[in-house]
Amino acid sequence: MKNIDKLKSIIRGKIKENEMMAKHTYYGIGGPADAYITPQDRNDLSTILQYANKNSIPAYFIGSGSNLLVSDEGINGLVLSPGKSFKHLEFNDCNLFAESGVMLGRIVRESIKRNLSGLESLIGVPGTLGGALVMNAGAFGGEISNYLQSVDVMNMRGEIVSYTPKNLDFSYRFSSFKTTEFIISANFILKEEDANIIKKNKDHANKGRKMNQPLKFRSAGSVFKNPKNFAAGYLIDKVGLKGTKIGDAEISTQHANFFINNGKASSSDILNLIYLAKERVKQEFNINLELEIKLIGFKEKI
Ligand SMILES: Cc1cc2nc3c(=O)[nH]c(=O)nc-3n(C[C@H](O)[C@H](O)[C@H](O)COP(=O)(O)OP(=O)(O)OC[C@H]3O[C@@H](n4cnc5c(N)ncnc54)[C@H](O)[C@@H]3O)c2cc1C
Repeated sequence: MKNIDKLKSIIRGKIKENEMMAKHTYYGIGGPADAYITPQDRNDLSTILQYANKNSIPAYFIGSGSNLLVSDEGINGLVLSPGKSFKHLEFNDCNLFAESGVMLGRIVRESIKRNLSGLESLIGVPGTLGGALVMNAGAFGGEISNYLQSVDVMNMRGEIVSYTPKNLDFSYRFSSFKTTEFIISANFILKEEDANIIKKNKDHANKGRKMNQPLKFRSAGSVFKNPKNFAAGYLIDKVGLKGTKIGDAEISTQHANFFINNGKASSSDILNLIYLAKERVKQEFNINLELEIKLIGFKEKI
């Protein structure tokens, strides 16, 4: 990548050149990114984003990579992650403030400890707060956007923009954040609740997840969004693809919307399973399955 030495001289955070993205995705798949950066703080982030913008260097933002398929060819440009820098979490009565790098699991556990309800059904959803907001992560009837009060993002000019839910759209696995906005932090107002009720909600979510998901294998969770009136996994099962293998990738026998890496799967193994499932479901049900996972580094549009 051109200008990398100049960039190295102006930033304070960690920068790793030609970093294998397989190290940063739950799939354990992904070739080298030109530079993988964890900014030190907001000012550092601002410097990096402005530099990328002025020099027309593509910049991609990731959390913990639990919803990502990255190409074996890797990523031309910068990959920025909140890493260890954006980790502040604070409660004040029912108010919760968290930075984007805090793991969702920690937020959920800390809320439950304080008898605060609203997020407990998200127990077990992997990933960071930043990723959860972009994906509008949800499970067992709850969504991360439900109790949201505000979100701060940084744009490519290095400016902080504050949103309230009024300025944002959220729906099933969708948010209106732009791919050029790095999520910095968010505020929520949760609800005080009886500890037994919170525990019941949490246990229900935990049990459902353990029963239905192949949690021992590398995956990125559900590959496709559920189309109207159907579960994507049901449709993939009905067209007979459960257990189908391409290379070292497999459509889970436990949950057909989870595609797993049995160890050495490449991004094209997963991608070929995606094409196959889309094609067969279209043929038999005339339904276009839409991806839930996010793809980075691929030339073709899926
Ligand atoms: C076993 C398993 C079970 C799962 N179960 C569920 C479930 O029940 N419900 C559910 O909703 N999801 C589920 N997922 C998917 C995934 O955990 C969520 O989508 C999660 O919220 C992604 O968080 P992340 O930090 O890993 O984001 P990543 O995968 O790193 O990124 C996801 C998206 O967010 C963007 N992004 C991440 N951080 C930032 C940031 N700071 N600023 C700007 N953009 C950012 C990325 O560009 C990308 O578009 C599951 C995944 C696995 C592996």
